[in-house]
Amino acid sequence: MIAENFNYDSPSTLAEAFQLLHDYGDDAKILAGGHSLIPMMKLRFAAPTHLIDINNIPGLAYIKEEDGYLKIGAMTREADLEESDLIKAKYHIFGDATKLIADPQVRNFGTIGGNIAHGDAANDHPAVMIALDATVVISGQDGQREVSINDFFYGFYTTAVQHGEILTEIKIPAATGHFGSAYYKAERKVGDYATAGVAAVVQIDGNGVCTKAGIGLTNVNPLPMRAERSEAVLVGSKLTEEDIALAAKYAAEDCNPSDDLRGDEDYKRHLVKVITKRMLNQAIARAKK
Ligand SMILES: Cc1cc2nc3c(=O)[nH]c(=O)nc-3n(C[C@H](O)[C@H](O)[C@H](O)COP(=O)(O)OP(=O)(O)OC[C@H]3O[C@@H](n4cnc5c(N)ncnc54)[C@H](O)[C@@H]3O)c2cc1C
Repeated sequence: MIAENFNYDSPSTLAEAFQLLHDYGDDAKILAGGHSLIPMMKLRFAAPTHLIDINNIPGLAYIKEEDGYLKIGAMTREADLEESDLIKAKYHIFGDATKLIADPQVRNFGTIGGNIAHGDAANDHPAVMIALDATVVISGQDGQREVSINDFFYGFYTTAVQHGEILTEIKIPAATGHFGSAYYKAERKVGDYATAGVAAVVQIDGNGVCTKAGIGLTNVNPLPMRAERSEAVLVGSKLTEEDIALAAKYAAEDCNPSDDLRGDEDYKRHLVKVITKRMLNQAIARAKK
């Protein structure tokens, strides 16, 4: 199918983009990598009258550690994450996740900001961000505000980004000490969305006790989901096999998968249990290196 007619603007500053969003009102949409928005327009699930392309605004693509945070600019491409030495050295979870997203063509253009702003529980970065306890920086004509990832996803394709605003940065507490992270999703074939995916993060102290745990789940709940009961089992634990198994069991019990072409509810709960266990063990092994 062919998209409905639309007007196109390509501002070169954020101020210009905010003004365009203000002028065009509710019918305008931001265009980042275009790999979720354009397919939706072609299927006529979305029919914005104006596209505001933010690809020509400088300064929105970066990966850096600063002030105790890993900061990722919204226009950072999946391919940039895959190739970043900082990410490869300290934040293995992104390497795990990006290589499972679509194919190289999509990853060369799709952005981290778009992946999250799209508000789809089937996308991989939302669960990763939940596990990493991210903060989303949202900018508008009146300045910036920060929203915890816990309060970011409102509903199907709906997030805390309001009309007139642009997601500009994602902030993640910088990895220090014995920190490990991992992500995996089961998929029907390479490039597919998750049948079920799990992001796991652990921080371990000098005595082998877990001081922080993050577990995010992909595509097994209407919204990207934090496995809170599982995290609570792990914090304060020596991360024994029994505790890891209990955390995996709770994640499988607490998610809300639906039957669809990718599998039925029982199968998806089983996947969550198995992958949670594996990702926790992977994150722990990385934390101990
Ligand atoms: C064949 C195919 C397979 C895919 N497989 C996967 C997969 O396995 N896992 C996965 O996670 N994703 C997958 N995707 C989606 C892909 O990762 C998209 O690139 C991503 O979801 C959206 O990022 P984008 O930069 O392309 O955003 P766009 O498509 O440009 O935008 C998506 C939405 O977010 C809004 N938006 C974008 N950027 C901003 C911003 N900075 N501020 C505010 N709003 C913004 C847009 O207005 C739009 O509503 C796949 C896509 C395709 C085409």
